[in-house]
Amino acid sequence: MRRFADLSPSPRTILTPGPVEVDPRVLRAMSHSILGQFDPEFTSLMNETMQMLRETFVTANVWAYPVDGTSRSGIEAVLVSLISPGDRVLVPIYGRFGHLLHEIADRCGAEVATIEKEWGYVFDPEEVIAAIDDFRPAFVVMVHGETSTGRAQPLADIGRACRERGVLLIVDAVATIGGVPVETDGWMLDAVVGGTQKCLSIPAGMAPITYNAAAERKALARKRIEKGLLGAAAEPGDVLRPIRSNYLDLSQLQDYWSPLRLNHHTEMTSMLYALREGLRLVLEEGLEARFVRHRLHERALMAGLEAMGMRLYGDPSCKLTVVTCVLIPDGVDGESVRSMLLEAFGIEIASSFGPLRGRIWRIGTMGYSCNRKNVLHLLGAFEATLVRHGVTLPAGEAVQAALTVYESGEQP
Ligand SMILES: *Cc1c(COP(=O)(O)O)cnc(C)c1O
Repeated sequence: MRRFADLSPSPRTILTPGPVEVDPRVLRAMSHSILGQFDPEFTSLMNETMQMLRETFVTANVWAYPVDGTSRSGIEAVLVSLISPGDRVLVPIYGRFGHLLHEIADRCGAEVATIEKEWGYVFDPEEVIAAIDDFRPAFVVMVHGETSTGRAQPLADIGRACRERGVLLIVDAVATIGGVPVETDGWMLDAVVGGTQKCLSIPAGMAPITYNAAAERKALARKRIEKGLLGAAAEPGDVLRPIRSNYLDLSQLQDYWSPLRLNHHTEMTSMLYALREGLRLVLEEGLEARFVRHRLHERALMAGLEAMGMRLYGDPSCKLTVVTCVLIPDGVDGESVRSMLLEAFGIEIASSFGPLRGRIWRIGTMGYSCNRKNVLHLLGAFEATLVRHGVTLPAGEAVQAALTVYESGEQP
């Protein structure tokens, strides 16, 4: 008989911008027995999850459901289902995930225009609006919280401008949903993609999305073209532009999530349990209380880092609450610091991408990972690790500064 080692992942303190620690209630939910995907008990869990998603996205949209796959699958489902080849799409880019949106829009055959902001900053809404008036796109696609740079783009003015011009605004809120406010209806966002493994503290594997009737019409129009139902309405020479994905076709997925329950794929039963439990945790805590909690631990972390003499990266006026970027001091090997944090203290923080590689560390304070124990543990460990790497520090100041923030109460 062959033997393999027991699975025994080490307990970790995960302070990256995802995946983050999973709430034990979510892990327990995932261990329940499977239900068939058309079992009325299961379909009523699906309906409950849709309602919880509407509340989390702050929307009255009919459509709010998860796409099976990581967050990227939700982004791809929305873009491939709404954008037809040849559509004009504007992608304002201010970090790595903006480039991802550009790439996916390109693969949809769109005519894409981009505007770029220096990393560490976000757009003045007027800059985006001027680009809209210049390029006249059918869609604007952009990131709400850029985890690569730790910045948050204000969206309300852009949303209003898009609505006034009949442009659809598609937003990547993967890193922000459940951690900082995302006002789908209030900001006039037409389609929003969230993530599970960030502020919702659920393992990666589902992408919650929501979209409104205007977005739905785009997907359904292509469904009709595909089925040849457009008939006489089609112009001579019209190109048939069916949605170029089966798995990620929202017009089919929504039939599966509707009372029709038309079979599409096999639902990820255990992941749906996880999502429902994760959303239940969010709504029980309350969105507002949850945002206050994320701001509190951000403040404590930043106070600690600054007391330690660390410098933070990026424009502070648009800092993303749930990701704090720290400049690596000159002469310090950032990867060696990360290794020591993991090996000696069981803490994981993130490195960075592209132009920021080797220049900053990124610390996530998201969801279940966003708590006092983790922040204090990281600050103490970080200080000790930096001293071991030859950095001169005011010893003990970091934890004291964070404690002072905690003692001063829970106001943001
Ligand atoms: C993490 C992240 C993604 C990608 O999510 P996956 O689950 O890895 O597919 C997309 N956008 C942003 C802003 C992210 O932070």
